[in-house]
Amino acid sequence: METLRTLPGDDVRQIMWRFADRYDIQMALQSARSLARTLVARLVAEGARHTHEWTDHKAQLLEAFDSSGLTALFMDPHQGGFIEGPKNLALALVAFELSWVDAGAATCSLATNLALAPIHERGTPEQRDYYMSLCVPPQPGDDRKIYRGAFALTEPLPYVGVETNTLVGKIRIAEWEEGKEPIIQVDKRGRFITGMDFANFATCAVDTDDPRIKSSCIIIVEDTDEGLFDRGAPTLKMVHQLSSTRDPVFNLKVPASRIVGGYTVKDGVIVPNYTHSEIIGAVFHRTRVPVALMSTAKLLSAVEPVIRYQRQRFRGGDAVPGTPKYDLGIQQKPDAVLRLAEIWAMGEAGASLGFETARLFDQLDPSEKEKDRIFAEQGIVGPKSQISAQRKFEKMAIELLNLEAMPESERDAARFEELSNNPLVRYVVLESLANILCPGCKLWNTGQAANQMREAIALMGGYGITEDCPGFLFYKWTDTQLEATYEGPEAVQRRHLSLTMTNEVFLAKLRIWINQFTKLGQAKPETGAAIVAKAMEMWLWTLEFLHRCKDPSGARLYHNRRQNVCFPMADALCWVMASRCQVSDVMELAEKGPENPIVAEGLEGTLGFFSDLAVVQAAKAAGECAKVCANMVYGFGPQDEAEFDAFDALRSQLDRTLSGAALAKDRAGHALTQVMIPEALDYPL
Ligand SMILES: Cc1cc2nc3c(=O)[nH]c(=O)nc-3n(C[C@H](O)[C@H](O)[C@H](O)COP(=O)(O)OP(=O)(O)OC[C@H]3O[C@@H](n4cnc5c(N)ncnc54)[C@H](O)[C@@H]3O)c2cc1C
Repeated sequence: METLRTLPGDDVRQIMWRFADRYDIQMALQSARSLARTLVARLVAEGARHTHEWTDHKAQLLEAFDSSGLTALFMDPHQGGFIEGPKNLALALVAFELSWVDAGAATCSLATNLALAPIHERGTPEQRDYYMSLCVPPQPGDDRKIYRGAFALTEPLPYVGVETNTLVGKIRIAEWEEGKEPIIQVDKRGRFITGMDFANFATCAVDTDDPRIKSSCIIIVEDTDEGLFDRGAPTLKMVHQLSSTRDPVFNLKVPASRIVGGYTVKDGVIVPNYTHSEIIGAVFHRTRVPVALMSTAKLLSAVEPVIRYQRQRFRGGDAVPGTPKYDLGIQQKPDAVLRLAEIWAMGEAGASLGFETARLFDQLDPSEKEKDRIFAEQGIVGPKSQISAQRKFEKMAIELLNLEAMPESERDAARFEELSNNPLVRYVVLESLANILCPGCKLWNTGQAANQMREAIALMGGYGITEDCPGFLFYKWTDTQLEATYEGPEAVQRRHLSLTMTNEVFLAKLRIWINQFTKLGQAKPETGAAIVAKAMEMWLWTLEFLHRCKDPSGARLYHNRRQNVCFPMADALCWVMASRCQVSDVMELAEKGPENPIVAEGLEGTLGFFSDLAVVQAAKAAGECAKVCANMVYGFGPQDEAEFDAFDALRSQLDRTLSGAALAKDRAGHALTQVMIPEALDYPL
């Protein structure tokens, strides 16, 4: 039987992650890859990570990001960038490529983007063009210094962390002369602020400490402003040492025009157009996706070094070429390869989930702008009034989803067209999905990858916990813990999901996926779709159960404060969503692979292998989901027998979908003993 011949190349990935027709993105990816596998790898190999200090050695990264085009990736062409339109997928792929070698380097490349993100998402057009253009590397003959930024939300304990609302950073009016722009006094201390060694500006979350300023906001400070711009002590971090992190202190006077998004003056009071939390919501909604993919890259990057280690383990001694001992080493026995198959399967699922989310944001960006424009025309501003205006479109959004899922010949074409062309309906659909996939990939890709990276380390034996380990796996493992923490640790993502996963538009989409995957599973059992369909069905049934039933004290089971219910349900949903995306990417490869001559060659083996990985992952995800659901149904005390019977029936159906899953894993493991790998890693050790 045909099996995977070589490790998947770019042609396969471009199809699965849907950027085969995006040459601009492919070029950015190549730049990131060549930088990662030369300078970045060299820095790690030379020990640059052995200090938390920002050194000249590390500072080479900044120039390299500038000259390779990565610094300008976030900008629009009129600001000096080179990709027109949304860039979520491009940024995600670049973060993935850099993290393939070192995620600290990826964080370093993204730091200014994070600082710019509040300005990009909610800044005035002038602020946006001004700061975005300044952060583009100067062209030859352009006599100016490049700007770099930092994003300062987190404050020294016991202040801002997860609870972003308790801000101690403050602003007051310092001077306000009649007819002139007010001058604001900014007082902000940051904790763990990335990029602070070289930032020229920082976007700071601050609250009002003055009755003449209405609310909190994000305000921009610069190192040339009057007052104190103290970069602070370096963070004594043990991860991501290729990025800079310090605890800065700002005590500066800045013009009120630095309030991100602008302000109005009402009855002598400055009213910022956006509070800090409104802006932060929009920022993290996007920047969390590349972070998720940083962790995923590490799982996938571990595959090649582990295979090489396993195969070479018994070379030397009495082993001679041509014998299983010499050629297969540890791979002679199944356990090591089966464990590696699990690592690879999880990496695939994470990539599928992360890149699907990035693509979704590329659709959401223009849709959100259009929504804001329409609402502004109607005088609907501010998140609360927008959310309540959006609610009116939810029914239509569900109708659109259902029409879309119907065969073309059966649906009301006119109504379908009307709803598809309604920008607000389209926005509500996209937003309901983004509200699951974004916290979902940030939570699942990072947290589960941290657990699974331990397995990868374990497969390298003692080597895994030394600096000599090929592929820098130990660094990658520990770095993953930061990705699970910064930009909102796991609890934040679970809280977000607790609120959004009960949204009716999302649940309508989930019902459609259950239907589609049930049919797909019947037609193509080898895809794992039947397992995913049943797991989704069980999750949905359990959610409905939690809404229907109470505990013995009469308290509702589903309540967003009941974290022992909502949080595990959020985790379970992520497992299943990741598997759903993975199956969908394998289907895409099956459909488009034959059109590409390079992929078509050996496609049967590639597809068989990826399908087997999808089944391996689906079986694991279904197990995780079933475990959580059983705890929900049985764990909160006696319920009606009819509820238990219904759950047991579902559970037994789910178990039956696992038929053949262990064989799929065996096949995937066997493929790992056959696949060709290069003689050596393509980056320095
Ligand atoms: C290297 C590094 C770089 C960073 N870069 C930046 C940066 O550039 N800008 C910036 O602003 N910040 C930055 N941070 C800060 C980072 O975003 C925070 O550390 C992170 O958001 C977590 O906040 P915390 O450390 O205060 O954790 P805590 O809030 O103290 O959380 C501790 C634990 O409690 C859990 N928890 C907290 N609240 C709840 C709750 N209500 N329910 C359940 N569980 C809860 C959390 O999930 C976590 O597991 C950086 C951090 C590091 C380490």
